This record gives sequence, structure tokens and C-alpha cells, in this order.
Amino acid sequence: MEIRKDFLPLSRPDIGEEEIDAVAASLRSGWITSGPKVAELEDRFRSLTGAPHAVAVSSATAGLHIVLAALGIGEGDEVVTPSMTFASTVNQIALRGARPAFADNDYGTLQVLPAEVERLITPRTRAVIPVHFAGAPADLDPIRAAADRAGIPVIEDAAHAVGTSYRGKPAGGHGNIAIYSFHPIKNITTGEGGMVTCDDEGLARKLRLLRFHGIERDAWKRYGKGGAPHYDVREPGYKYNLTDLQAAMGVVQMGKVKEMNGRRALLASRYFEGLRGVGGIDLPVPPSYPHEHSWHLFIVKVTSTDRDAFIGRLAEYNIGVGLHFPPCHLLAYVRERFGSKEGDLPGCELAGRRILSLPLFPGMADGDVDYVCAAIREILGEVRA
Ligand SMILES: *Cc1c(COP(=O)(O)O)cnc(C)c1O
Repeated sequence: MEIRKDFLPLSRPDIGEEEIDAVAASLRSGWITSGPKVAELEDRFRSLTGAPHAVAVSSATAGLHIVLAALGIGEGDEVVTPSMTFASTVNQIALRGARPAFADNDYGTLQVLPAEVERLITPRTRAVIPVHFAGAPADLDPIRAAADRAGIPVIEDAAHAVGTSYRGKPAGGHGNIAIYSFHPIKNITTGEGGMVTCDDEGLARKLRLLRFHGIERDAWKRYGKGGAPHYDVREPGYKYNLTDLQAAMGVVQMGKVKEMNGRRALLASRYFEGLRGVGGIDLPVPPSYPHEHSWHLFIVKVTSTDRDAFIGRLAEYNIGVGLHFPPCHLLAYVRERFGSKEGDLPGCELAGRRILSLPLFPGMADGDVDYVCAAIREILGEVRA
């Protein structure tokens, strides 16, 4: 086959004139940090999830930081999370002085195993953090039941899950704490940004304090019309607020997320079609429980050849890929600090050696998917020959 001249990236944000106009309008308004656009984006997330509270933050990582802080998680505590997740989660647990307890995941779906979550809960466990992997939901009901028995909160890592639903209800709409990411690779983007949703008013109030210096009223309320410039600080906070420039973009993205996710789903089914019956790779396995998939990522597993060599071959075809994720329990500092090692988590480790995320983004053409499928068939054909 003929090799394409231009590079096909793993992902590219879907930014149109509407986002550009919205950011320009925000610039022209004279109010560029947290203000009316942030409030509007928070509204969108209350509508999306049905959760009564939404707190915009500068990233999902920042959101996780202040959630763990607000819950008082620290020294001597444990948090159960899959190892098959982004390092950000484990970093935040470790930075609080707490210990991550790593749950194994299903090899096929890559979702965390509820029975493993349950098994790892001890009297020291203060929270569990399942991930809605690749845009399909984690199996929330049994995870929540195990957490309820222990009297601890579930924090949904919903970084992949804007538009995902589990058993008819959106991610973040099950009474848990949920954290979304607006990094450019995610289903909606604000450049960088994130959102925390929750049911608990007291927690939401704490999160608002912790995201902005510990000050009750943000700049918008202090310097807007009718605001009072005084403030007090009862507890020191961080500087994790989202700006209106970013939120303006996010509001437009939320208006088209259904359409963008629909396009992702079409591309995913084209991949399934184009890769059907190809030996040497395992296709993604959607969970068996009822759900709506946001198709954040299309992850295959390379079984007949070395995954890293395969990545090199795809690069020769001008195809970019991703790796979501190197298992967290095998990261250098995690091994060193927490004593985790090869052999601890068989499902995660087998998947970890084989996984590969293929290009998937709303602006991708059908022909791009066909090209990737043809390249994979050609490469794997050589392997077998
Ligand atoms: C992207 C991602 C995060 C972190 O999001 P940021 O907004 O970049 O902090 C956390 N968890 C998972 C699973 C992610 O993919």
C-alpha cells in the first residue's frame, strides 16, 4: 500500500470558529479569569450529570488533589484504585502521604474488577477511585456497594467519560464524586481544565474554598457589580480555578459533545469492521452491562508480535499511537516507595504489555480509519509470513 505523506496523530481537538469566537468575546468582555463563563460551564455539568454541585478547576489532577484534601485523606490512609490508570491519580494519593492499593482490571474491557476493589478495602481505606476506562463506564453498582459497606466515598475518574452513561444514568450521576478532564486529548477540551461534580453540599463548599486560596468569594463576586472587596481565610487553599477564557471554549464544546461523541462512535464501528478477523490483535471489549460509550479511546492489544516494534512499524506508515496506560504499580517511584512488583496484577500486566491506542478524534475521515486498518493488516501479514 502507498504510505501517506502527512502524519495521522492519535488525537486532535475539534476546535471551530465557534470556539474561537467565544474566546474572542470573552477577551473583549474585559473579564478573562473565573466569572460568568465558568458559572455557565458548571451549569452545563449539573445538567449533564444531574449532580447538584459542579466545581470547575484548572485540571482533573487539580480536582483530584482538592477532593483528597477536602476528604482529609493523608498519612496512614489507603486509597483503592486500579493500576491501569493515568499516573496522575497515584501521584496525588502519594503526594497526600497516603498509600495506593492497586486493584487488577479485566483483560478484555480494561475496567477495574469490583471483586478486587472489595478485597482490597481495609479499615485504613478512605476512598475508592474507579476509572471509566476509554469512555466505557466502570461497573459502578458493585463498587459502590463495597464502598457503602465500608462507609467510604467513591470518586469516579471520569476523565474519559463526558457523555458516558452506566445503566441508564450518566457518569457522575450516581451520587458519587466525579472528576472530568478537559485536556486536549479528551472528549471536550478547554486547553487545560477540569470539573468536579458531587451531591454533598458541604464537600462542594470546601472544594470551592480549596480551589481559590481558601477565599469564600472569588474575584468575580468581590470585584463584580455589587461585590464587597473584603475577605477572610479560615484554611489555606490552592490556586486551581478555571479561567473564563477556557470556560468560554468549554461551553461551546459542551454544545457539540453529543455530535462529537457520535462521530467517535461511527469511527469506532468502522475500526471494528475494518479489523474484523485480523489475527494478531485483540479488539476492544465493551462491558456486558448496559452503558453508553463515549469512545474516548480505541485500544487494541497486540498479541502476535512485540507491541513496541509494532508501534515503530506504524510510525513508518505515518500513524501516531498512544499508550493508555503503563501500569502504575510498575512505575519506578511506586515500586520503590510502595514495594509493588511484576506479578502482582496479572490482568493489568498482560494488557499493559499489549495495549495500543489507535488514532481516534471527531475530525478524522473515514478514509483515515481505513488507512490504519490496511496498515495493520499489512504489518501483521508480514509478521505471520
Ligand atoms: C487525562 C487523565 C487524567 C488527568 O487529567 P488532567 O486534566 O490532565 O489533569 C486523570 N485520569 C485519567 C484516566 C486521565 O486520562
